Amino acid sequence: MRDQYQREIDYVRISVTDRCNFRCRYCMPREGVKFADRSEIMTYEEILRFCRAVSGIGIHKVKITGGEPLVRRGVCDLIREIRRIPGIESVTLTTNGMLLGVYLPALEDAGLTGINVSLDTLNTVKFRRITGTDGFSEVWKGICKAVKTSIPVKINCIPIREWNEDELADMAFLAKQFPVMVRFIEMMPMGKGRDYTGIPQEEVKDILRKRFGKMAAAKGRFGNGPAVYYELSDFQGKVGFISAVSHEFCGACNRIRLTADGILKPCLNYAGRVNLRQEMRSGITDQELRYLVKEAIYWKPRRHGFGDESEEEIKEKRRMAGIGG
Ligand code: SAM
Ligand code: SF4
Repeated sequence: MRDQYQREIDYVRISVTDRCNFRCRYCMPREGVKFADRSEIMTYEEILRFCRAVSGIGIHKVKITGGEPLVRRGVCDLIREIRRIPGIESVTLTTNGMLLGVYLPALEDAGLTGINVSLDTLNTVKFRRITGTDGFSEVWKGICKAVKTSIPVKINCIPIREWNEDELADMAFLAKQFPVMVRFIEMMPMGKGRDYTGIPQEEVKDILRKRFGKMAAAKGRFGNGPAVYYELSDFQGKVGFISAVSHEFCGACNRIRLTADGILKPCLNYAGRVNLRQEMRSGITDQELRYLVKEAIYWKPRRHGFGDESEEEIKEKRRMAGIGG
């Protein structure tokens, strides 16, 4: 369906947990993290009911995210069930990759249509510094296994000043080595992300040109959203950029979000106002559920408003891990 600005909304990102086996510095505090009570987390039955409702109003693409989605038991079965819903064309997963090697066979069997692995460094020491874990080799094994499956793989890297600027060309090189998309995602000034300085898209492109030569803008669409892609000579995959701050793409935004505790969020940077978990538990009908989602989509904010200090009271205050990115 379309919102009041005529944007076609066909994609939902669903966070299935606010818990995570990593503690990425820009996403989650190292200590004192307060997680939602289990009773506040959407059950799989509630998530499936939500997916059935939105498939009927034009949402065709679902991303499963978190926290770390693979730490929630039964997530592969959830994916299988969502894939069976008429009207849902793709179900993809965003993961930190730590458990990917273990769950790949089950994910393939469930019919997963895409995997995004978040990876900011190829250096084990920096990996520990950024994520708070020693998981690099597990993540790497997971990626190596994933590229051998029929599921398309994307690697998402956040360029961060003084953390990985010396590695950005090596990250892009993964798209030469493997048939994967490597995407550079701009740090967004939300939660702990405010404490870090991202590296602008143009600067990353300059670094890549110096190492690999010409970058030609790729034609066509290669995913659910706003990434712009480039082709580099002799690369098997492409290199993409998602730059929400420096190249705002709100005019083409096609998504809504459902948080792990059931808040429907029409825009990443605004706090959602509808608690679908509470509504479902208080007995609303499917028709009422669809109405609530349609109304929230219609009133989706025009722009994310990063850097703009107005409407602070209704802007998002939660950690990214509770939202799902
Ligand atoms: N744990 C999974 C993962 O890391 O892929 C899924 C959830 S995580 C919140 C989703 C994505 O959000 C990750 O790629 C992460 O790098 C990104 N992210 C977290 N905080 C961010 C921020 N402030 N700005 C931009 N991206 C951020
Ligand atoms: Fe966990 Fe993903 Fe946040 Fe890292 S970015 S702490 S892996 S939710």
